[in-house]
Amino acid sequence: MTDLPRKHLFDLPDGVIYLDGNSLGPLPRGAAERAGEVITRQWGQELIRAWNSAGWMELPRRVGDRIAPLIGAAPGTIATGDTLSIKVYQALASALKMRPDRRVILSDSGNFPSDLYMAQGLISTIGKDHELRLPTPEEVIDAITDEVAVVMLTHVDYRSGRIHDMAAITRAAHAAGAVMIWDLAHSAGAVPVDIAGSGAEFAVGCTYKYLNGGPGAPAFIYARPDIVLDVEPALAGWLGHEAPFEMDPAYRPAMSTERLRVGTPPVVQLAILDAALDAWEGIDMADLRAASIALSERFIAEVEGRCPDLTLASPRDPERRGSQVSFAFDHGYAAMRALIDRGVIGDFRAPNLMRFGFTPLYLDEGDVVAAVDILEDILTSGVYREPAYQTKSRVT
Ligand SMILES: *Cc1c(COP(=O)(O)O)cnc(C)c1O
Repeated sequence: MTDLPRKHLFDLPDGVIYLDGNSLGPLPRGAAERAGEVITRQWGQELIRAWNSAGWMELPRRVGDRIAPLIGAAPGTIATGDTLSIKVYQALASALKMRPDRRVILSDSGNFPSDLYMAQGLISTIGKDHELRLPTPEEVIDAITDEVAVVMLTHVDYRSGRIHDMAAITRAAHAAGAVMIWDLAHSAGAVPVDIAGSGAEFAVGCTYKYLNGGPGAPAFIYARPDIVLDVEPALAGWLGHEAPFEMDPAYRPAMSTERLRVGTPPVVQLAILDAALDAWEGIDMADLRAASIALSERFIAEVEGRCPDLTLASPRDPERRGSQVSFAFDHGYAAMRALIDRGVIGDFRAPNLMRFGFTPLYLDEGDVVAAVDILEDILTSGVYREPAYQTKSRVT
């Protein structure tokens, strides 16, 4: 059994129960020192020599190889850098080029807005008669027809935590001749994923949520190794070139997953992420998943037993739910603000969802019960009705 939780590996402020690691993971111990070393010793002393002497150029690949086992990918199949939105665009553009005779991008109406915006933006840029189809998540498998060029879905729904059946949907996409892209933003580090076993062509994800890489941490993109040399990068940056320092005016993609790199890597953020991934050493994702389910089941039971105004908005079956739980409540925004003021940090998603993330790396059942004690108190006292809790902040 993996030893969980590992609270000693994180710098969490006193008096805080952090139920938002699904949105921004906390600061891992050692990450600030690592960033300091990169800034003062490598950048400060080595200057431009550090690209070679400190291994900055290899860092994106090295970090990708550390993410790989968490999503069931082989070494060398993941490129890191940019943001998730950019990686979605890259995967989508490459996938459309693989199916030039087809016109439909299929996603679902519950997908994260940025993924949908990227698809809309790509369609308007290429100016062809492409179409984005958005059936409900439940209807998506039946909407996979032979008109579909690419199926692009987020595996775990950011609002409800509902999990798509990766194996079944990927099989259906391939049976219809479509390319499959999975967005693992709420899966990587949250649930076991077997991306290689699924056979999907592409996967993308971010590292500032469950992987704790910090605000602005680089995203990742996986390409199935047997197709990667046929992938034509739409964002053909110089660091995806086979030989960037030949300064060749003609683009020639790298003969590896490195072709999915674009420009200069975010070295300080990659170093922080590298340090953050230390907390994942020796983790068996099946053990982590069992601990996550125990926490979320306990939370649901406590809330339903003590807070009758809240309605479960996530799947009740834990096998169909990721590592987060949402409850609907008409005064959800105000109640979440009051909760945060009392040290229990979750977040709010419009129109009425109070969202709570369960991260077994640094949470135990005692934290869950203590959080519900405070939630119950806020609801029974009605303190959330105070005017100060009613106005929306820029980030909710
Ligand atoms: C968090 C998230 C994003 C955010 O993309 P960024 O470019 O990193 O801001 C995109 N898609 C999904 C599904 C997400 O959960």
